[in-house]
Amino acid sequence: MNSNTSPFISIVIPVYNEEENVKLLSERISEAMSDFNYELILVDDGSTDRTRSNIKVIDNPHLILVGLKKNYGQSLALAAGIDLAKGDYIVTLDGDLQNDPRDIPMMIERIQKGDFDVVTGIRHKRKDKFLKTIPSKVANFMVRKATKMNIKDNGCALKVFNKETAKELNLYGEMHRFINLLAFLNGARI
Ligand code: UDP
Ligand code: MG
Repeated sequence: MNSNTSPFISIVIPVYNEEENVKLLSERISEAMSDFNYELILVDDGSTDRTRSNIKVIDNPHLILVGLKKNYGQSLALAAGIDLAKGDYIVTLDGDLQNDPRDIPMMIERIQKGDFDVVTGIRHKRKDKFLKTIPSKVANFMVRKATKMNIKDNGCALKVFNKETAKELNLYGEMHRFINLLAFLNGARI
């Protein structure tokens, strides 16, 4: 890819007690993003295990560590990372290896066409237990019925935003569960 025309990408990942995952996560991102100009912002949300020290020894020039003083929760951790992000496009995903970074390039390619503000992942085969998938299927159904937003799965953390849309989200509390809806209500095309 031509570095003069290629966009700068910010990847924002909140991590809380992911000591076993951060190194592999960084490696998988490096592999998937080798054709891009990007920064990888890992927001350590006050982990109590070795997440932070494990991140500090990762050898990845794209990596920026944001260390929060205590555990603020996924929404505020994401918000802190999005605040710092300098990219033209901002990618979010979870740090527990449940999202595959190899999906990112095609999502960037899609959003670059300019007719969408958010490109969201859907979990084709969810790596979660029934007790988690059923309430979220019910929630997805209710959102589909209550709004004109017709998205199959609103619980997938892997998303690509244009920077304006990401920075307008104002995440707090449990709002990370409703990012598609927040963006949709702000007028985003998803
Ligand atoms: N996470 C965080 N702060 C928290 C809880 C979770 O930053 O207080 C991170 C976690 O490390 C992971 C992402 O948010 O990278 C999603 O968390 P989890 O996998 O627990 O959520 P689920 O997949 O159950 O929705
Ligand atoms: Mg998870």
